[in-house]
Order: sequence, then C-alpha cells, then structure tokens
Amino acid sequence: MIQVLKFGGSSVANATNMSRVLDIVSKAARNGRVVLICSAISGCTDALLGLAKTEKGSAERQLMLESLQARHADIIRRLFTGAEREAVSAKIAELFAKLAAAPEDEMVTFGELFSTTIIAEKLRCEGLRTKWLDSRILVIKDNESLTYNNISTAVALEPEVEVFVAPGFIASEYDGKVTTLGRGGSDFSAALYAAATKASRLEIWTDVPGIMTANPKLVEAARTIPEMSYQAALDMATHGAKVLYAPTVKPAMEAGIAIHILNTFEPENPGTVVSALPEPKVAEWMGVTSMDDTRQGESLICLVSNGHINGEAACARTEDCLKKAGIKTLSCSSDGTNVHVSVRLTVAREALNAIHREYFEIAPRSVLELYIAGKGAVGSALVKLIEESSARIAERTGKVLHIAGIADSHGWTLYPSAAGLPSATGKGPVSDPRGADCTGIARPIADAPRGSIFVDVTDSEDIWKEYEGLLREGISIVSSNRRALAVPFVEYAAMHAAAQENGSFLRYETTVGSALPMLESIAAGANSSDEILSIEAVVSCTLNRILSEYTLTPCSFAQIVRKAQDEGLTEADPRIDLSGREALRKLLILAREAGVPLEEEDVEIEPVIGPEYAGLSLEEFYAKLEADEPRFAALESAADAQHLRQRFVASLVKDPSGPHGYRASIRVQNVDASHPAYRIKGSENAIIIRSTYHPSPLLIQGAGEGARMAASSVLNDILR
Ligand code: ASP
Ligand code: MG
Repeated sequence: MIQVLKFGGSSVANATNMSRVLDIVSKAARNGRVVLICSAISGCTDALLGLAKTEKGSAERQLMLESLQARHADIIRRLFTGAEREAVSAKIAELFAKLAAAPEDEMVTFGELFSTTIIAEKLRCEGLRTKWLDSRILVIKDNESLTYNNISTAVALEPEVEVFVAPGFIASEYDGKVTTLGRGGSDFSAALYAAATKASRLEIWTDVPGIMTANPKLVEAARTIPEMSYQAALDMATHGAKVLYAPTVKPAMEAGIAIHILNTFEPENPGTVVSALPEPKVAEWMGVTSMDDTRQGESLICLVSNGHINGEAACARTEDCLKKAGIKTLSCSSDGTNVHVSVRLTVAREALNAIHREYFEIAPRSVLELYIAGKGAVGSALVKLIEESSARIAERTGKVLHIAGIADSHGWTLYPSAAGLPSATGKGPVSDPRGADCTGIARPIADAPRGSIFVDVTDSEDIWKEYEGLLREGISIVSSNRRALAVPFVEYAAMHAAAQENGSFLRYETTVGSALPMLESIAAGANSSDEILSIEAVVSCTLNRILSEYTLTPCSFAQIVRKAQDEGLTEADPRIDLSGREALRKLLILAREAGVPLEEEDVEIEPVIGPEYAGLSLEEFYAKLEADEPRFAALESAADAQHLRQRFVASLVKDPSGPHGYRASIRVQNVDASHPAYRIKGSENAIIIRSTYHPSPLLIQGAGEGARMAASSVLNDILR
C-alpha cells in the first residue's frame, strides 16, 4: 500500500529541518511504499516570483539568483560530503542555469525542483531505493482522470522503488506548458498523488499541530481540532485557514482517503484527521478563520461549524461578543452552517480573539458556576432539573451549568471546579464544614470566580445580610427567598446598587407568583412608562386555597386551615399566612419592582385573624378559630348572597395622598364575576396590572406553587 507524505516549505527550510523529514520518511518507508511530495524551501517561491519581475541580465537579478543558490548550497554542504556533495551540487547548478534562462512565467516552478532533487539524492544516499517523479509530466491541470492515469502507471512501472519523490505545486497544462496549481498548491498535489495511487494514508506535514480553532499566530489560545469532516475542513480552508489548501479536500474525499495533518516539529502529536464524519445531531463549532480584503479595508471572518446551526442566534451571539470587546460589526450573516462577519482590518486580530474567546475558550460567562444554598423541596428539584437538562441548555444557549457547591444548614459540599463539566457529579465532592449557619454561608464561596452565581433557595431570615457583599465581589444572586428581599428599603436598594456597580445581577422572579412572570412584567411597565396605576395581586397560595375551598365544602374554616397545614401548604405556623405576613412580603417586592419604595409600615393590613390570636399555642389557636366559625360563616354567606367571592388581595393603587403617591393594602375583598380573580382555583395566583404601558389591564394568572415549577423559575433567572 502507498502512503503519501507531503512536507511544506518550513519543513524543508534548512538542513536541520530536512533531516527531520528524512527521519519521518525513513520510518514510514518501513511500513510500505512512500510517495513524498515537497514544497520549495520556505521563501523560495516568493523569491522566484520577485526574480521574474527583475530585468533580464540586471545586477539585481544576478544578486537574487546568487542568494537563492547560496541557500540551497548551504543545505547541500550540510547534508552531503565528498563525491555525493559534488554530484548534488552539479545537479542544482544545472537547474539554476536553466532557471536563469527560463521564460519569466516558468521561473516560479523551479523551487520544488530544487528541494525535491536534494531530498531525493539524500534518501538515495541513505540506502533507500528512490525515484524522482516529474510532476510537470504527470500532473495535468484540471484533468484528474489523465493525472490519475499518469501517476498510477508511473508508480506501477517501478515495483522496486521504496520512496518516490515528487515536486508539489507544479504541473502542466493539457498542451504541455508548465504551470502551477496555485499558491499553497503542494497540498493539492499530494491529494492527487494519493487519489491516483489509492493510497492507504495521506499525511500533510506542516509547522503547526494540525488544523486549529484559529490561526495560532493570531490567536494564542488556538488549539488543535482532533477530527473533522471533509466539509468542515473545506469550509475552514476556503475561508482563510492557510494550513490546508482548499482544493486538496475534493480528491481525498472522492477517494475516501483520510487526511492527517501533522507537525514536522512535533511528530508524536496526532494533529487533525479529516475524514467522512456523519453530520452530527447537534452542530459543534469548529474554528474561526479570517481573510483580509485590503482593498476594502475589511477582514472577512468566518466561524465554522460542522452542521446545521441557528444562524440568527449565532449572529446575535457573535455580534454581542464583538460589541462587548468594543468592536463594530460591519456585516454578519449565516449560510446555515457558518457565520460570516466582517470588521475593519485594523481590529481584525482583536475580533478573532474575541470570537475565539466566546466560542472556544471556556470563558467564565459560558460556564456558570452555581453555588446552591438550600436542600429543601425547591433546592432538590433544582439540582435534579439541572442534571436532566444541562445538555439541552448547553446546546440551546451555549451556557454550561456546573454545580460548584450545595449547602444545607450543616455547611457546604463543594464540587471541585470542572470547567466544561455540566454535571455536579463529575468529580467527587469535598465537604466544607465552614458556613454551618446561614450567616457564614458566603465564606466558602468568597474566592469563587467573578460571574459565579449564588442561588438562594432557603427561607432563611438572615441570609440577605450576605447578599450585598457577594454582589460586590462580582458574584450574582438568584433567589427564591422572599424574606431576603422584603427587607427595609435601604438594604434592598444597597443590594441593587452593589449589583449594578460590580457587573453582577440579583434576580428573584420566583419570590412572587412562583414561575409566573410577574416581576418582569411590572418592571417592563415601570421602566418604559413609569405610570403604574394599580397592581392587584392575589398571590397567597395558602389563602387562595383556603378561601376557595371554604366556599365549596361544608367544612369549618378551622378544619380547612388545619387540612392546608397538614398538606404542607401553610407556613409552619399558619398564623403567618392568615396574618397577611407572607402577602406583605410579596407586596413589598411587587411595589419596589414598580419603583415605589414601599416599607412595611406603609401597608394597611386587615388580617383574616386579629391580634387576639397571637401568643396562643397552636392547639389553642385552632380551638379559637373553631369558636370563631360563625363569624367566618357569616362573611362567606354575605358574599355568596351577592354572588361575590372572597379573595385575599394585596393591592397598590396610585393615590397622591398616600405614602410615595400610592395606597397599599392587604385585605379580604369580595370580588364579582367580572373580576379576574373571581375564577381562580385552588392555589392559583393572579395579578392585574394597570399602567399607561398596559392601558387595558394586564392579567397574569396560573399555577402559583410546586417545587418543580419554582425550580424551573429559578433556573430561568440563572439563564436569563
Ligand atoms: N511553494 C508553493 C507556494 O509557496 C506551493 C506550496 O508551498 O504549497 O505557494
Ligand atoms: Mg502550504
């Protein structure tokens, strides 16, 4: 079987490098016959093109010829001795004489003649049966069948030969005129030789370790792509990756020969294998290339993937990362597989690096380190949800979720950072006994990287004291703990200021109405119109459930409360719900989201039960509630007689005479059938927002409880 090995200009640039090539080739020759294709020594082709432009017989031309000849003579001097040196020198001198006399347009073809003549002679001296093949005769430009026929015949005629050496780049036209395959064309020559000989292996040896995610000369963090499809390699090559000449792909692909791209200076590195890979179910980003259009002063950047992409999303992500790097996008489009961006030439390198960072370096922004405090129903549901959906999330959003730690009241269990590992179970946990109480909870994450997210799914009373400090450290917070937000307004404002100043965020949509987008909707109205006219929130799951069930069943009010408590629907002490305390927290959060700096004392509360219930034991409380049944029954039948329903409503209504220009209250109201809250069932929540932004009231209604739902709402805040 034939192996085709191609070495580029820098691999044969001098005697030392040529010796490396000789080593690699002699090793390969032990496994089977070799066709060795070489480029001209580096810089030679450019020098020849320059030479052709000089005047015939001029001193300049003479000088250029001499310096080129001296470089080759130096290599010969180092590689050969005695009679062998003389023989090779004579051959090269003869070629130089021909070069001096050659027509200008043929001069460029001599570089590969020099390099391959030297190498072939050296291999022969090493004792390998070697034959030099003349690509000018065998390779016919734009005529593959003739080329294949010529090459396969030439090789078949010489069964004894161990190593064939052939110049890359050069060929002839159908009419016999000498020509080239285009700059970088030696790769293409190698693919033609491989296809013609049905080679078992095609190796392109160069000066970088394979096809990389970016040009390593421009992007330091570029890394090797271990394997890629012919199509992806073609896309990279077509759009500027110089490591592989684009026309090379087609003959190899048609012949089904894998292309190995290897580094002469690091022969053990497996480099890149380009072969017929199936299109992946989910496209992966391969690399980013660029081509300079100096006339337009633009750089055309291409972000290459190996499958079908959401072009719109990819463009948005690309433009966004450039914007963050302060780079203006001139144009951005997608062809369904790749993203094409153009930027000013002067910022091309920065743009490449920004895009590379965004897509190929695991930046803190794309791996979200999560520190989850709280192992209750919501915490457990959240961990489960993340484990189930992290792969899908990574694919949809590019964000990789990594649970870095989970805390309960006994302290943290930390999962050592595993960049790129979407699951907390990737590495063994490390227990951290610190932070056993909530006041110390921040300590274990004090040295977490900026951009980490602290997730508070506890219902701790005092954990909020850690919030501001964390936000100042650049650690963001997602919370479902409404106690942490219903703090005095100055504290609340300080947290938000800390987040804003330090590039972190504080999100807590779950604190009111669970997964219903209430805060978001209020903020949208307040931010854009600043005229919130009223908010009516029926957001106490517990009371909604108790009041609606009281209407429907013959049970006493006390019995229904006890049932709700048994089902875990109430606070540990149901009086917190009945006193309106939970609703008060929610109303503070809602009002502040509307820009109203509401404090507890600004709210008029008419609790379902009065202060006379405080100070009783739980059993005494239930006994008293049972004794009060006639009062509850009377209220209920009064409402019923008028076809009204009792609903526990927290409201904020614009009123110039009230504190901050609003009147805030929490009370049981009798609503008629036209009121949106009339129809809500069980533990459903509803909110009605009137603002100049929503001239006809905005109604949001739906399920308001459940651990899984709360967890998905927390996750939504993490990803938003
Ligand atoms: N020597 C040619 C060039 O510099 C061909 C090659 O190196 O692939 O373009
Ligand atoms: Mg090349």
